[in-house]
Amino acid sequence: MTENDHRAAVVTGASSGIGRATAARLAAQGWTVYALARRAERLQSLVDEVPEGTGTVIPLPADVTDTADVERVREQVEAAGRVDTVLCIAGGARGTDRVADGRLEDWDWMYRVNVLGTLNVTQAFLPMLRATGRGTLLILTSTAALASYEGGGGYNAAKMGQHGLAGALRLEEAEHNVRVIEVLPGLVHTEEFSLNRLRGDQQAAEKVYAGVENPLTADDVADVCTYAVSAPHHVNLDQVVMRPVAQASQFKLIRKSQ
Ligand code: NAP
Repeated sequence: MTENDHRAAVVTGASSGIGRATAARLAAQGWTVYALARRAERLQSLVDEVPEGTGTVIPLPADVTDTADVERVREQVEAAGRVDTVLCIAGGARGTDRVADGRLEDWDWMYRVNVLGTLNVTQAFLPMLRATGRGTLLILTSTAALASYEGGGGYNAAKMGQHGLAGALRLEEAEHNVRVIEVLPGLVHTEEFSLNRLRGDQQAAEKVYAGVENPLTADDVADVCTYAVSAPHHVNLDQVVMRPVAQASQFKLIRKSQ
C-alpha cells in the first residue's frame, strides 16, 4: 500500500473555476472528494461528470463564512469517514476601487470569504488532519498576497491576511506532521472570478484577459494543487508561485494588440 492509496480530501470552492477543476482532477485520480460551495446544483453537476471507475465526489453545500454551517459539514464528513487533506480554494475579489474610494461592504466580504472562511474550515478540520498522523492543508492565495497594486487594496489586504494565516499555521502544525502548502497564482482565466469582481459586467471582465496569450487556466492550477497534495508527505511545497509566461511580474503583463 502506498501513501496515496485511499486518499480523501475536502475541497472548498468546488462549484466553479480552480476549486471545481481541482476536485475533478483529484476524483479522476481516485480520491474521495468532499466538494464544498454554496451552490448545490453546481456541485451536483460535478458529481455527474466524474467518470465511472474513478474516485467519488460527495457534494456538501455550505457557506465557509458561517461557522455553524462548516461545523455541520465537518460532522457529515466524520460520519462518512475521514479526510487527510483539505484544500481551501473558496475565495474571490469584489471591486477595483482605490483605497480612497473603497466600499466597506466589499472589503468586509473579501476578508470574510478569504480569511475567515479559511479560518473556519481550518479550525473545523485540523483535529481530523492531526489524527491521521500525516495531514495536508492547501491554501490557495494569490500573487496579490505578494505585491500590492492600484485598485487592489481590498483584495491585497485579504490575500495578505490569508497568506499570514498560512505562514503561522505551517510553523504551528509541523509538530503534528500536518504540512501546509500555499499556492499563489497570478492571472487565471476562470469563468466567474473577474465577472464577480466587476459586478457582473461581462465586457469589463473579458477586458482583463484581452490580448494576453495563454493566461493560466483553472486546469493549470488544479494540476499544481493535485501534484502538491499527492507528493510524498515529507515533501512540503510550502509556497508555489505560478504565473503565465506573459505575466513576468505583477507589473509586466504582455498584451498582443487586438
Ligand atoms: P471563482 O470561479 O469565482 O470560484 C470561487 C469559488 O468560491 C466558487 O466555487 C464559489 O462557490 C466559492 N465561494 C465563494 N464564496 C463562498 C462562500 N461564502 N462559501 C463557500 N464557497 C464560496 O474563482 P476562481 O478564479 O476559481 O478562484 C478560486 C480561488 O483562487 C479564490 O480564492 C481566488 O481568490 C483565487 N485566485 C484566483 C485567481 C484568478 O485570476 N482567477 C488568481 C489567483 C488566485 P459558490 O458561489 O457556489 O459558493
